Amino acid sequence: MADSQVCQQVRQHIMQMPLVDDHVHSCLAQTPSRPRFEELLCECAKPLGPGQSRFDSQAGFALVRYCSPLLFGERCAVADYYDQRAGVDEETADRTLLPAAGVGDWIIDPGWAATELIDSDEFARRCGGRVHLLTRLETVAEQLLQDAGAVHDFPQAFRRALHEAAANNVGFKTICAYRCGFDIDWRKPSDTAVQQAVDALDAHGRERLVDPQIVSFIVHEAMAFHKPIQFHVGLGDRDIDFRHSNPLDLRDLLVAAENVGTPVVLLHCWPFERECGYLCQNFNNVYMDVGLASYLMGVQAVDALRRALELCPFTRLMYSSDAWGLPEQHYFGAMVFRRAFADLVEQWVADGDWLPADAIRVADLVAAGNAKRLYRLS
Ligand SMILES: [Zn+2]
Repeated sequence: MADSQVCQQVRQHIMQMPLVDDHVHSCLAQTPSRPRFEELLCECAKPLGPGQSRFDSQAGFALVRYCSPLLFGERCAVADYYDQRAGVDEETADRTLLPAAGVGDWIIDPGWAATELIDSDEFARRCGGRVHLLTRLETVAEQLLQDAGAVHDFPQAFRRALHEAAANNVGFKTICAYRCGFDIDWRKPSDTAVQQAVDALDAHGRERLVDPQIVSFIVHEAMAFHKPIQFHVGLGDRDIDFRHSNPLDLRDLLVAAENVGTPVVLLHCWPFERECGYLCQNFNNVYMDVGLASYLMGVQAVDALRRALELCPFTRLMYSSDAWGLPEQHYFGAMVFRRAFADLVEQWVADGDWLPADAIRVADLVAAGNAKRLYRLS
């Protein structure tokens, strides 16, 4: 059994340790309206009826609990947050909340609705850390499918585009869970088969790639770079069909990635944290985090982390926020993670199951060390 002072030291270390946020997006350029702000607190974009607010959720409560003291100098009631926040401009909010997250390295997915966001150079000026970029595979493919020159020789055009992107990125990201799902034929298709599939697409199919053969192709092509490929797993907005997003269906692809020596990162994972932890234990090239889920769960994020820590090797679990738009998410995502991790580990130290020095070493790995090793951040 460890005494309470030692437990307190472990908690303090976890609350202050530098993080790598391995999947995150930039911040809004303009202060959002109240409805837009509330939309960004959850994964459902439909407006609520009268008498309801998205702040009345675990995410809303955690946001106000952690962010109001920093932005307004004192804690405010959940119902009062937006009115006070509307008086803070975005640059001030960014410069207050982003550095306070204690993130040394931000790995940004620039892929979605980026026109609403400040660019990665401006984010780098405000965040108090280093910025690295991911390449979203579907975005690269969809741009080429709109290009009359590229579409006639799609496989070669895609390879050239990935080579260009790989010069400036630390990894790739796929949203195939949103598109064809994971339960597809993951064998690598031939160039001829891919070109035939491209030729058969109608205008809508070229705008929004859902063809499983082409999706399999773009993932296999990214694997050739031996850089980490992030897969959105589990919860997301209503585009996700949960019946086709069980990560156990990635098995054949994970075997193929292992054979060529390419790491795969399973993002978010809720409610499949156990399946993902199992895959991390079974495949040496598989990593996971509980980003997005953790900030949506707020004070209950401890449960997602507890499930991940059943089987996931400690050298394969990482931190991400999946914050998008609101600098609040970048900050309170980090605080929720620190708090959840501290709650678990402090108890294990108090019970004598973990020595304090072991707890601190593992905390540093999960917070930053695993991601630095994986993404080759010096
Ligand atoms: Zn994301």
